[in-house]
Amino acid sequence: KEAYAQLEHKLMALRENSRTGDERKTLDEVFDHETVMGIYKLMTSKIIESVLFPISTGKEGNVFACENLQGKLLALKIYRTSNSTFNRINKYIEGDKRFLGISGSKRKVMAAWASKEFRNLQRMHEARVNVPEPIKFHRNMVVMEYIGSKTAPAPTLRQVALDDPSKVYKNTIDNISLMYQKAGLVHADLSEYNILYYKRKPVIIDVGQAVLTDHLNSKDFLERDVKNINRYFRSLDVDIEDSDHIINNIMG
Ligand code: ATP
Ligand code: MN
Repeated sequence: KEAYAQLEHKLMALRENSRTGDERKTLDEVFDHETVMGIYKLMTSKIIESVLFPISTGKEGNVFACENLQGKLLALKIYRTSNSTFNRINKYIEGDKRFLGISGSKRKVMAAWASKEFRNLQRMHEARVNVPEPIKFHRNMVVMEYIGSKTAPAPTLRQVALDDPSKVYKNTIDNISLMYQKAGLVHADLSEYNILYYKRKPVIIDVGQAVLTDHLNSKDFLERDVKNINRYFRSLDVDIEDSDHIINNIMG
């Protein structure tokens, strides 16, 4: 099919444009045949129209800016089906009652993981936590609202100079609280790296590992999240609240 050939060509071009050998290697890993077929499927089902540019190459996945038929920008997150990703992720899937019986095949686990991120995003979005709106998941891919401008994704909290850090701090704690009380979830990997700053507000991303509040370790995860946020905003000279106090408030 011509459209498939065009897509493959476009993805090859993205690969050729990557600056470093490492980047090229991860793109080779991410664009295996199954994944290219998956992106193609997202195109024929009119979820996305084209892949525009790579946003990030992370430990376990790649994020790309895409566009739909209406010209709306979207973010496409693709989980790599590599052994290291699988090993890190498998323990979270095993501890989650929503995924009883999913184990074994790497491909299955990666698809379960993408669906987990998607469902976590849905629960958070419905609870009005400030997260990218979930659009679709397919195999090892999640399509969501793109946060940023035509030319560049929104910076992470880590990358930006905040003009009112104390307000962003309060807003972040409010989001953690909503997430717990209304969505029934704990992020479990929250830090200045997994929060974007957009339209003067924190936007929480990377929610694949978020766990239900009835998870065995949810309190430990919540504690770690709150302490990370407190540590970061303390470094910005914000008057932070005691973490035990925050956690008691959140857990009620
Ligand atoms: P890492 O290992 O770097 O944490 P990850 O695989 O955990 O990567 P994310 O943290 O979800 O993936 O996303 C990686 C980066 O991609 C983010 O830091 C952000 O710059 C960008 N990104 C993710 N989601 C979006 C989005 N919806 N809109 C714009 N940019 C995004
Ligand atoms: Mn991340």
